[in-house]
Amino acid sequence: MEKKVYERPHIIKLDAGMPGKFGMRAETPAMTHVFGVAVKKLVEKHGSPLFVISEESIRQSYRKAHKAFSTRYPNVQFAWSYKTNYLSAICNIFHSEGSWAEVVSGFEYNKAIANNVDPKKIIFNGPGKSDDELLTAANNGSLIHIDHLDELYQLIDIAEKATQRPRVAIRVNMDTGIYPQWDRFGFNYENGQAWDAINKIMHSGKLDLMGLHTHIGTFIMTASAYGIAATKLADLAMGLQQKFNHTIKYIDLGGGFASKNTLKGSYLPGSDISPSFDEYAEAISSALLNSSLKPDSLPLLILETGRALVDSAAFLISTVIANKRLSNGKRATIVDAGVNIMFTSFWYQHQISPAQGASQYREDTVLYGPLCMNIDCLRESVNLPILNKGDQVVIHNVGAYNMTQWMQFITLRPNIVLVDSAGEVQLIREAENMDSIQHHEKMPDKLVINHP
Ligand SMILES: *Cc1c(COP(=O)(O)O)cnc(C)c1O
Repeated sequence: MEKKVYERPHIIKLDAGMPGKFGMRAETPAMTHVFGVAVKKLVEKHGSPLFVISEESIRQSYRKAHKAFSTRYPNVQFAWSYKTNYLSAICNIFHSEGSWAEVVSGFEYNKAIANNVDPKKIIFNGPGKSDDELLTAANNGSLIHIDHLDELYQLIDIAEKATQRPRVAIRVNMDTGIYPQWDRFGFNYENGQAWDAINKIMHSGKLDLMGLHTHIGTFIMTASAYGIAATKLADLAMGLQQKFNHTIKYIDLGGGFASKNTLKGSYLPGSDISPSFDEYAEAISSALLNSSLKPDSLPLLILETGRALVDSAAFLISTVIANKRLSNGKRATIVDAGVNIMFTSFWYQHQISPAQGASQYREDTVLYGPLCMNIDCLRESVNLPILNKGDQVVIHNVGAYNMTQWMQFITLRPNIVLVDSAGEVQLIREAENMDSIQHHEKMPDKLVINHP
């Protein structure tokens, strides 16, 4: 038998958060592989930092969510929220599962078209659509979700030039018991704006009112809020039926389901307390089935779920650059992934695992990124074993919003790989280089520096 290495005992004060009733929650043990592929191999081939996404994990989440809804409500349609992660490979995984596209800008609209999504299956949300974008969407028969009265009038004008009647829905905001209330998008339910917009559309005679939409917020931890939202949209649908004898085709409840991440300041981890797809589906389906909507003309239920479908399908691998002691004696570790590529570290306490075996000794550590900016902190306090320069860490649940909200700041953006369903590693976005940045810049002739 091999002789064990002696490690002297340590007594340390823990301050990495609040203990639960089972004591301190230690971070996970070493994670040498992500989605079945060795971390060291991935870094050797594709560099560090590196985003790693799993095709299988996305498909599993999607199927679980779809099943939760389709077993409770007769017709259900998911539309992939592009801004959550619009890497084309990722969008196409969702599209191949049957998802439509949900976009919030002309750029995202064009991305969905480039991905070969049927234009009739593109939902166009967002408060800032240009005349050209609206005309294209109208001619293509896409579903245009109106955000404000100016857009409503803009569309009535555009309807004159369009080759077909614009297919529209209105976005509705409302009190669902979630505060602060998101009332900056769409028309308010309680004060009558939504009903007013509906009347203006119906009286104009120029637009096809297809549906009603709401997106009540994001990371909503209370499933019953969706029940309230569904009931209010069903009420508007009933009003339309009674007054105009008009049957809407769909009710769209937007996105906002919580992922398994842990919000900063949360006492318990998100993996324990975020509602399941079943809980959200139960709240929404019951509300719709219990409403006054007629069973033979139940609208299609559309869901624009983003983060809850993709967050846990990605890890970020990062490499230790250095360790140091802060003036208060606290250990600090600097890794090569900064907040510029880990936007969500501003609101989540991302779980971090060491990627190699380490000693039993753990210590509360501040995890910094490589940027020369005070805000570049991935975790203020995380209980980790001693990591050495060149070691890797794995950051969990980074699939939503990081690969779209990231910015090129101080460092360039890294490679993204997909572990496909066959276990093969595919590069799906190349790291940026000097050219990617210089390409967009122009140098006035007189500023060129020429050495004689
Ligand atoms: C961002 C957004 C979504 C997706 O939200 P998640 O919180 O990621 O589920 C869906 N619909 C609209 C209109 C959005 O703006």
